[in-house]
Formats: sequence, structure tokens, C-alpha cells
Amino acid sequence: MIRPQDLLCPRPEGLYCAPGDFYIDPVRPVDRAVVTHGHSDHARAGHGAVLATPETLAIMGERYGEGFTVTRQAAPYGETVARDNVEVTLVPAGHVLGSAQAVVRWKGLTMVVSGDYKRRRDPTCQAFEPVPCDVFISEATFGLPVFRHPDDAGEIARLLRSVAQFPERTHMVGAYALGKAQRVIRLLREGGWEKPIHVHGALERLNRLYEDHGVDLGPLLPATVDRKQDFAGAIVVGPPSALVDRWGRRFIDPVLAFASGWMRVRARARQRGVELPLIISDHADWDELTATVDEIRPGELWITHGREEALARWAELQGIPARALALVGYEEEDEA
Ligand SMILES: [Zn+2]
Ligand SMILES: [Zn+2]
Repeated sequence: MIRPQDLLCPRPEGLYCAPGDFYIDPVRPVDRAVVTHGHSDHARAGHGAVLATPETLAIMGERYGEGFTVTRQAAPYGETVARDNVEVTLVPAGHVLGSAQAVVRWKGLTMVVSGDYKRRRDPTCQAFEPVPCDVFISEATFGLPVFRHPDDAGEIARLLRSVAQFPERTHMVGAYALGKAQRVIRLLREGGWEKPIHVHGALERLNRLYEDHGVDLGPLLPATVDRKQDFAGAIVVGPPSALVDRWGRRFIDPVLAFASGWMRVRARARQRGVELPLIISDHADWDELTATVDEIRPGELWITHGREEALARWAELQGIPARALALVGYEEEDEA
């Protein structure tokens, strides 16, 4: 009888598929990798071969240079690729542009590796697609009932109200360079902000890549002008680390905002000196995690990383056996 662990098993490098001889999101260089999405803890340079969506391959090329792998194979959403006797299909995960779940099929067994995912609408990427499976392998970054993300339009409305209230100050929004920044910009456009948005140089190439993939970000300007008064009443988006470094300190009396699921935790906002915490996450919150497991009703739930205990216990109560893999090397601090 075939057991799930014969198809996929945790190793120090990441989840390993022995019958197909490949790793999924390996944290160390390997011969053959399947990469779910472009965040740096999942997509690393130096593999022999990478299978990913065309968007993820483009993101990796942009971040690491075109020599990031020896060979690459693009698998558009829904297209099945054979790796020895194993079939791999990438389907949308709703996390960032090009993000995918890896559906792995072998001898009648179906296992789905979700990668990072969320269920709510994101105007910058395709929505998560539930796939019936024997084993669903989920992340649990926000796997505690205290984590419930509010509506993102409401968070953007709070930002715009603050801009209206303090027209002489600069609103600086910290947002992870891949995914979160483009989503925040797109949400600002949907919220009615039509003026140029100033962006830190570290975001420019990924912004362009998103635009090349049909995500309209509206007028963007580099946030490199020396005349400080130009930024009164402006919205500036930059990577979280840049807000507090030399670049960030050049702005006069800024309102520091930070878009992250972690902003639910007040101590984290205080620690970073964030005046306007925006709870906008690219990861599923507690309700999205449990609703997803409930909808898919897998034979087993495996949890890769995050706060796995509560989700595992919840699944067991629903009659779904759960297993915590405790994979290491996936940092969720800034991208969450
Ligand atoms: Zn991610
Ligand atoms: Zn991650």
C-alpha cells in the first residue's frame, strides 16, 4: 500500500519527492527544484533545474540574474508536467504574482503543497484554487484564532483618511518588495488615490515586472528628490527596512505606516516605531486556514511552518488527522 510519506517527505533541504527526485521550495541548492513562488525564502538561487510558473521564473531572474539556475522549465497554471513517474501541476495560490500550489500525483495518490497562500481577493494575482486531495500541506503563519485580518479596503481607507488629516506630513508605507508593495499601490488606486505614488528604488524593477504582467499601478515617481517639501502630503512606498535607515530619515515629520499581518500585534508595531499599522497580509488568517481545510476536506493535513499546534488540534477535532512538519528556513517576518 502506498503511503503519503513515500511520495513526499521532509528533509533538511525541504520537502522531497523520492519517486520524482525533486524538492519543493528547497532552502539549499539541489539538483531539481519545484518553486512555488518568488519570495526569497522559497525561491533560492543555485539549483540545477527549476520548475515554476513563467511569472515566478521571471521574478527569480529579476532578483538573482538570469544565471539563477542551470536549466529552467516554465509550467503555466493548470499544465501537467511529468517528473519521472510523478505528475506535477501548478495551480494558483493567491499569494503573489505567479504564486502556485504544487499538485503532486503518483499511483492514484494526490498531495497538494500549498506554498504560501491566502483566500481573499488580490487585484495583483490569480485567486487560490482549491484542489481535492488525499493530503493537503498547508502553511500556518497566522495559525492562531487571534489572527483575523480585517478587510483590506478598510485599512487603505484609514491610510487615506490620515493623509487627508495631515496634509503637511509625508506618509511612508513599509511594504515587502514582492507582492505587498504592488498590492498596496493597486489598493490605493481602487481607493481613489489617483496622484503619483513615490516609490523607493528597491521596488522599481518588480513594479515594472508586475506592470508587464498586466497589473496597472498608475503614475509612479522615484522617491529620490532632494527637496524635502516636495513630499508634503505625498504617499511614499518602500521596503520595511528602508523606512528607518538613512533614506527614510530624510523625510520631514513622516507618518510611518507598515502593511503586514503582524501589525495585528501591537508590540510589533511599537517595536518598529510604526504610527499607522495597516493589517494587510498575503497569508491566510485563522478563518481562511480553517475554511480552506474545511472546503478541501483532505484525508490528512500536514503543516509546513508557522503556528502549527492550534491548526493541527482544530483539524483533529474535525476528524482530519494532522501532522506538523516543522520545516525550517522559511522566514515570515517581513513578507507576511
Ligand atoms: Zn511568500
Ligand atoms: Zn513564506
